[in-house]
Amino acid sequence: MRRKGRISAFALILILALVCAILLIGAAAAANRQTYIREKAVTPTPSITPRTVRITEAPGQPTLTPTPRLLQMNSVGLEVKELQERLRELGYYSGEVDGQYGGGTRSAVQAFQGQHGLDADGIAGESTLNLLYSANAQTFVPTPTPSATPETAAMLGSGSQGDQVKKLQQRLAELGFYTGKVDGDYGKGTKQAVTVFQSQHGLDADGIAGEKTLRLLYSSAAKQIVVTPTPEAIQVLSGNLPMLVNKDHPIDADFVPADLVDMSKHCDSTLVKIKYKGTQGVREAVDALIEMLEAAKKDGVTNWQVSAAYRSVKDQQSIFDSNVKSYMNKNGLSREKAISATRKTVADPGTSEHHTGLAFDITVPGTSAFQGTKQCTWLHAHCWDYGFVVRYQKDKEDITGFLAEAWHIRYVGKEHSQVMREKNLCLEEYLDLAK
Ligand SMILES: [Zn+2]
Repeated sequence: MRRKGRISAFALILILALVCAILLIGAAAAANRQTYIREKAVTPTPSITPRTVRITEAPGQPTLTPTPRLLQMNSVGLEVKELQERLRELGYYSGEVDGQYGGGTRSAVQAFQGQHGLDADGIAGESTLNLLYSANAQTFVPTPTPSATPETAAMLGSGSQGDQVKKLQQRLAELGFYTGKVDGDYGKGTKQAVTVFQSQHGLDADGIAGEKTLRLLYSSAAKQIVVTPTPEAIQVLSGNLPMLVNKDHPIDADFVPADLVDMSKHCDSTLVKIKYKGTQGVREAVDALIEMLEAAKKDGVTNWQVSAAYRSVKDQQSIFDSNVKSYMNKNGLSREKAISATRKTVADPGTSEHHTGLAFDITVPGTSAFQGTKQCTWLHAHCWDYGFVVRYQKDKEDITGFLAEAWHIRYVGKEHSQVMREKNLCLEEYLDLAK
């Protein structure tokens, strides 16, 4: 009796389950039909096939078009793959592009629909697909959950985990900031990527993806990473570093640079006037100078003069001595004070960059002041592109030991001058970095 009763109860449950299943399937199908009808109804011009709409609205999109049918839970295939790809591109989807319409894809479709004022049913019908592939499709904008304060709601930081982090990593990778695994773990690499993104977008670079950061990150204002030379790049160049001559690094008294050329003969006198006959410079540097002044000419800046280039230690000694003498005679200074006054503008013999044959004093013929001339402005803006640096600058006086000299440029080679400009390094600082 008891056994029989149990069997019939089991059969009853089985029948009930079957009936329920049939009812559910029917309801689901009805819901889908309804959605399809509703979506069809809001499609603006039914006469245009989705293919045409896509081609006219978004040129450059892949021409593979889904046939006008529903993509939904458990749909599989190429169209789903394409859908996932597109959702990922727009920042809605961070899962795998596997052609299988699962819960992740549905959520992404819902988010897309919600953000575009469509019925957020998670089913990609005609109007959803049309909009998704059109130029009007917007990138994902995360919204803070209403239950929490905006700051904490949208904040991701070290230790955060989950889909939002995955999405963040995906987006950072897309923009070139993140090269690690898209694993949903907010670790060191993610923090670093967020920090660089923030600093490059003028945000507080704290490595925490707060509301402001996230909003910018997912917006169209988010820019690709700009790669700047790293200290490693300087290391690579360290095999061929510019020569350093200063108070701490004097040159041998008998040093003579190789390959000196007579500048009066080497340079076109209509391009640059060589103030003193017999002025010499190292060929490579003089050639770079000519190339630079030709570019200046193209920019309409002419009338250049070289007042000094290579100077032997002996020459420097006589310049130094005459300066000291002048301070003593004209200003009535003691020899000691005259020497220290001279040292402010004239290098001790052996410590002048002019000994290298790579330094030039650039002036304007007939003018005593160089600072403030259009030649000076052009030179300071462009010399770096030709391998020169403005060697003694105001903000580096403490490091170079020289008062600023607008006219004195030094040839170091393009690969160095460009890094020095970019990082605002004087030669001493630059060489320190390469150590
Ligand atoms: Zn000089």
